[in-house]
Amino acid sequence: MPLLVMKFGGTSVATLDRIRRVAKRVGREVANGYDVIVIVSAMAGKTNELVGWVEETSPLFDAREYDAVVSSGENVTAGLMALTLQEMDIPARSWQGWQVPLKTNSAHASARIEEIPTANLNAKFAEGMKVAVVAGFQGISPEGRITTLGRGGSDTTAVAFAAAFGAERCDIYTDVDGVYTTDPRISTKARKLEKIAFEEMLELASLGAKVLQTRSVELAMRYNVRLRVLSSFEEYDPNAGTLVCSEEEIMESNVVSGVAYSRDEAKVTLISVADRPGIAAAIFGALSEAGVNVDMIIQNISEEGRTDMTFSCPTNQVSRAKAAVEAAREKTLINFHGLVADTEVCKVSVVGIGMRSHTGVAAQMFGALSAEGINIKVITTSEIKISVLIDRKYLELAVQALHDAFGLENAG
Ligand code: ASP
Ligand code: MG
Repeated sequence: MPLLVMKFGGTSVATLDRIRRVAKRVGREVANGYDVIVIVSAMAGKTNELVGWVEETSPLFDAREYDAVVSSGENVTAGLMALTLQEMDIPARSWQGWQVPLKTNSAHASARIEEIPTANLNAKFAEGMKVAVVAGFQGISPEGRITTLGRGGSDTTAVAFAAAFGAERCDIYTDVDGVYTTDPRISTKARKLEKIAFEEMLELASLGAKVLQTRSVELAMRYNVRLRVLSSFEEYDPNAGTLVCSEEEIMESNVVSGVAYSRDEAKVTLISVADRPGIAAAIFGALSEAGVNVDMIIQNISEEGRTDMTFSCPTNQVSRAKAAVEAAREKTLINFHGLVADTEVCKVSVVGIGMRSHTGVAAQMFGALSAEGINIKVITTSEIKISVLIDRKYLELAVQALHDAFGLENAG
């Protein structure tokens, strides 16, 4: 029997009515001849509420108990979804993570999936069960305790099940109808993409496009799981949404597929750092130990054995970053002359696998920005992405200008 994985996010299961609505979609796929594994999130807002309760009860909480509490939201929706399907005469059963079992490591609150044995569910499918409803976001550690996969983790649950069970596709139902060329709130010309390559999606997800948890895209790419992102609020249409798939499935790849941004960035410069082996390791080692998410890094050309070192990080981590380098300065041989932070910057990126075979994308990007009088402060590039740091006040203008420059209103 062909198998589908269907994942419903929090807004899609926010009320009993909505659960009924999405259960009909599941019923339709069963009628189409599929066995279905449904992965559910907690009802919208539920996980936030549970996290709040934990923090209020115990500010320095024991992560094992955090997981015990916050995983419970998904248990409720899994049971309700199974009941709803049963009311529709569809043989369905709910499964919590430990019952499958979805085995993870012991990293509570951000556990990694290690293995999903298929025997238990397959035995039930063989007995005539049509739908297994699995609570997303949760698993069981080697010690036998409940774990969770980090916020947004039910996307990752869904992809992991699709990989383990060899599903034909993994449909992620959410409150947007697909992946867009840019944020439609910023550019009214944003278009929904029909297809996007795993690598492009990965870049967009890590740049803050909130549609999919980054880890779920990594996993889909590794196991070649075809993912479809679509809205549960629109009428049924077999071609709806955006397909996230391997490059080979995309006939004509766009040079640029999307413009992404990250609003709250900061640029930190260490002025006049000694230019010799071990200094970068000491600085970035200290930052990583302090949990600072360093993104872009540039080191200037050295003059007389000293150099400036600039990096970017989220605005709300600047004070932590400062404290970490100051502490390292006292402990080690890093002696810089000063530190300046610019917290009024943002990052804008263009992403596309077509960049690999096209030249001139960077020049076109910089040209479009300069035509708007926008100054570029830092540039980084990868094989399929070019990112710049600019003043935050130009964010909207830059996104719109780049969307126009690369003709993305005709994409899709
Ligand atoms: N309910 C969890 C969260 O809000 C997991 C998920 O929905 O993906 O983070
Ligand atoms: Mg989500």
